[in-house]
Amino acid sequence: MGAVTDKALDDPARRAIRGDGTTEDEWNDWPGLARLPAIDAEQLVPAGARVVVVAPHPDDEVLAVGGLLAQLAQQGREVVVIAVTDGTASHRGSAVWPPERLARNRPRESLRALERLGLSIEPVRLELPDGGLQAMQAMLAAQLVSLLRPRDVVFTTWRRDGHPDHEATGQACALAAASAGARLVEVP
Ligand SMILES: [Zn+2]
Repeated sequence: MGAVTDKALDDPARRAIRGDGTTEDEWNDWPGLARLPAIDAEQLVPAGARVVVVAPHPDDEVLAVGGLLAQLAQQGREVVVIAVTDGTASHRGSAVWPPERLARNRPRESLRALERLGLSIEPVRLELPDGGLQAMQAMLAAQLVSLLRPRDVVFTTWRRDGHPDHEATGQACALAAASAGARLVEVP
């Protein structure tokens, strides 16, 4: 991430994910990190606002805002998690992890993880196709509009994340949040 410039981010091919992702050390060395202001849970989610986490795949909610969710759970805040897909395309061609098994296990793992963070909530599952969200962006946005309320704070994956499903979900959330009068926070 350290070498990535804004210009490079304009090219989707340059954003595409290759290899093993960005290490913690690379993130910590990124100069942009030092420029970001510190912010706490109360500032991110004003009193009385509901938190809606929109996860393209089961695990994105924990990877994106797990620490924040634990803080919000401690404060007794209202949290809704929307699972866009069941993550059935994570092990393509695997005999051990076929899509049916993933569809059972990944949502269950997400539920257990939320429990560990202090949230006894069942994610809303939209069951859209894993790997196919770019083609369904408008439909996803329409579904989200019906689930969002004004003044909700919506957390989701960044529109320029590099993963096509994450980018499509970020775009759909931006449209839906603007239409519903909700606040959007995109998470890299
Ligand atoms: Zn994901």
